[in-house]
Amino acid sequence: MNYQYSAEFAREMDEKDALSHFRDRFLFPKVNGKDAIYLCGNSLGLQPKSAKDYIAKELTNWAEMGVDGHFHGEDAWFFAKQKSKPALAEIVGAHEHEVVAMNNLSVNLHLLMVSFYQPTKERYKIIVEAGAFPSDQYMLETQVKFHGLDPEEAIIELKPRDGEHTLRTEDILAEIRKQGDSLAMVNMAGLQYYTGQVFDMKAITTVAHEVGAYAGFDLAHAAGNAPLSLHDWDVDFATWCSYKYLNSGPGNVSGVFIHERFAERPDLNRFAGWWGHDQDLRFKMEKGFIPMHGADGWQLSNSDIIGLAVHQASLDIFQEAGFANLRRKSEQLTAYLTYLIEEISGNSGVLEIITPKNPAERGCQLSLLIHRGGKAVFDEWYKYGVVGDWRNPNVIRLAPTPLYNSFLDVFRFAQILEQSLKKFA
Ligand SMILES: *Cc1c(COP(=O)(O)O)cnc(C)c1O
Repeated sequence: MNYQYSAEFAREMDEKDALSHFRDRFLFPKVNGKDAIYLCGNSLGLQPKSAKDYIAKELTNWAEMGVDGHFHGEDAWFFAKQKSKPALAEIVGAHEHEVVAMNNLSVNLHLLMVSFYQPTKERYKIIVEAGAFPSDQYMLETQVKFHGLDPEEAIIELKPRDGEHTLRTEDILAEIRKQGDSLAMVNMAGLQYYTGQVFDMKAITTVAHEVGAYAGFDLAHAAGNAPLSLHDWDVDFATWCSYKYLNSGPGNVSGVFIHERFAERPDLNRFAGWWGHDQDLRFKMEKGFIPMHGADGWQLSNSDIIGLAVHQASLDIFQEAGFANLRRKSEQLTAYLTYLIEEISGNSGVLEIITPKNPAERGCQLSLLIHRGGKAVFDEWYKYGVVGDWRNPNVIRLAPTPLYNSFLDVFRFAQILEQSLKKFA
């Protein structure tokens, strides 16, 4: 497509965009009294206007039914988790019995390790990308220690080649093959939070399986953003959060994927709770854990109904928009942002896009490595209403999300970028 640096062009693109009306379903924060140019859905998605009504409905159910709300009415809380399954299955490319909404992301990472990390003398290593999100690093470090192993030896961190910012698939696969029989699992991000790179989850899973290891992914930045086919890729397990691209509110419920080949594996280690116990027998209150079929068998606690209500408000919008449509728009929005940044700051020496150019290797987020000006560049943009985020040591992340961002948002950012270069170039 021939992109142009003009407001007319951006407006035309918005007029042609069949999804543009979804913007009105969200609440935009203000910066210095003006609507923000919100490019931070990678960190916290915006609030759907409908969230209030979904919450109000549950508060009414609770007020009117008290404890009977667990089993009565069309929204019986006992079955609350079932509602999110169709949308979650579509978003991550899974069967409904392979997904469940529960707990929080870091908690789920630990729970999945209980099932999928069973180190032996020979097979105990874990491959992860260097510079993984801190929670994931701490999780791996403490899990390895929990098994009496040395993190320095058991955790293999993959670094980009000298002079490069992202990992090459061939290098990831070569390392998996090299570790061979000593490799217990690959446990990487699906979309790397700092660089915005999407890893080739299918190839990684295939090669991990070839050497007899598991492959699991943290999809915090991929769910609701990048195309995923977890079932067909044969991924063993995955988890994500709902408050980034899934717009479900700060700290809201996480989601888990467990491939169906583990659906009837009651022998697989797990830390159990009553909500993972056979639903029909749950209220017999008897001894002896019998897991539910599929991902449901990993649940521990009864659901946070208010949190799930907000989650559902957002998932219903995703279903209505259709993930394939969102992705199509997303590729265009991010290509437009790429075009404008290169057009305006190409030779300035101030910044450089380190996210891969190939659409298959990125979601909507672009990571800009700041060579000159440091965080002052970010602060300058913020002054004019750009909400992105700064990540130490020197990256600004901008994520135009297809549900609520417009081409005009991207154009307005470009104007602020041009202005700011006068100061930093
Ligand atoms: C956002 C994010 C987290 C956050 O974990 P919580 O348990 O939800 O606080 C963890 N890992 C990655 C990769 C993330 O991007």
